Order: sequence, then C-alpha cells, then structure tokens
Amino acid sequence: MNLVLLGAPGAGKGTQAKRIVQQFGVTQLSTGDMLRAEASSGTAIGKQADEIMKAGRLVPDEIIIGLIDSRLDREDCRRGFILDGFPRTIAQATALDAMLASKHLKLDTVISIEVDDEAMVERISGRYTCARCSEGYHDRFKQPKVEGVCDVCGSTKFVRRADDNAETVRQRLKAYHSQTESIIAYYDKQALVRRVDGMRAIDEVTEEIVAALRDGTRID
Ligand code: AMP
Repeated sequence: MNLVLLGAPGAGKGTQAKRIVQQFGVTQLSTGDMLRAEASSGTAIGKQADEIMKAGRLVPDEIIIGLIDSRLDREDCRRGFILDGFPRTIAQATALDAMLASKHLKLDTVISIEVDDEAMVERISGRYTCARCSEGYHDRFKQPKVEGVCDVCGSTKFVRRADDNAETVRQRLKAYHSQTESIIAYYDKQALVRRVDGMRAIDEVTEEIVAALRDGTRID
C-alpha cells in the first residue's frame, strides 16, 4: 500500500502517519524529518536547507526529489510507504509519478487532511516532542501527565522545532496555499484523493483515515 498524506502545516500529517505505520506496517517517509536529519549532521544538503526551513519556505525541488528517489529503493519500502510532506509542488508530484513508473510502483491513495489556517497557528506554535522517543506534546492541548517527564519513555528532555513559531508558521501556510494546495486537484484527476476532516480529535481523524484505507485501497 503506497500512500501520500497531504495537508497544511499542523494538520496532523506526522501524527497520523505514525498511526498508519502501526496499523498497516508501511514505512513513513517524511521529507521534513530527512531534511532536519541532514541539517543536524551538517551535510551539504542540510546546510543549504536549514536557512530555507527556518524562513518557512520550500527547499528546491531537485534536492527533495533526489532524497526521495534514493530512499524509495530501500528494503523497508517494499511493504509500502506513506509519504508525509512530499510532494509539495506540482513539479514534485510529476517527478514522483515518473519515479514510481520507473520502479514499477504506483500510488494507491492520497489522503488530504483538511483544516482551518488560524487554528493551525495555535496548534503549531505550542507543540514540542520528546527528544528521545519523539512523542508529541502541546503547551495547551496535551501536556505530559507528570510535568517535564515523557509519558511514553520517561525522558526529561524535550525539543521544539526552530520553524514552529507564529511568524514562520504563517509563511509556511502561505507556501502551502500558493505551492502545495493545487496538488489536490492534480491527484483528483487520477481519482486518488480521500478527504478527511482534520479539525476533529486525533483519534477520530485516525478512524476516518483507517476506514478510508480499508474500503478504498488494495492492501497487499
Ligand atoms: P515539515 O516537517 O513537513 O513541516 O517540513 C518542514 C520544512 O522542511 C518545510 O517548511 C520546508 O522548508 C521543508 N520541506 C519539507 N518537505 C519539503 C518538500 N517536499 N519540498 C520542499 N520543502 C520541504
């Protein structure tokens, strides 16, 4: 089962992707995570991407396409994958189609998580994750049960993304509307899109996605 997860920043793509991984055994491919890993290792790509990410703009297509192309060849993608944060431009979407065709693969479903912009600024500005296990938290909506201690692994170290501040979030939302949103129409033409209401509680969104995948997708 090969999936794309679309949605504005803060829509819950990362959270939902992790749940889909648990339920369906596919591999999560997050271009944002890949770029952050490159940046923290100080690679040439990481250095180029870091400033762009901090400004809330999109990293050049050729860098992203190269990252995904080699990643799709790895063994763990054989059972299927979920693309989280890619494609983000029409050029990336057409490159993905060509890439998949050359590897004799295809997309089964594109999930679009639909949300309101203003709610996203509040959602993103307060979020942080456990530095050890990546469990997600939020200043207002989900604090650890014991203050300062991760519910899942007990770590006391937490991290916030450098681009999760109100000003950068507004820029990221702008980039989403001007460069990414049109991808929904691109995949609509291929009859692949399933729309999900991302303003509901996290568990309800998961249920809707799982139901859409179970009824609309060939599961190998
Ligand atoms: P994310 O973790 O998906 O929110 O991505 C964080 C940042 O990484 C974005 O704001 C972009 O600067 C960059 N990025 C991630 N994926 C892409 C992509 N497919 N195309 C261009 N830039 C990307």
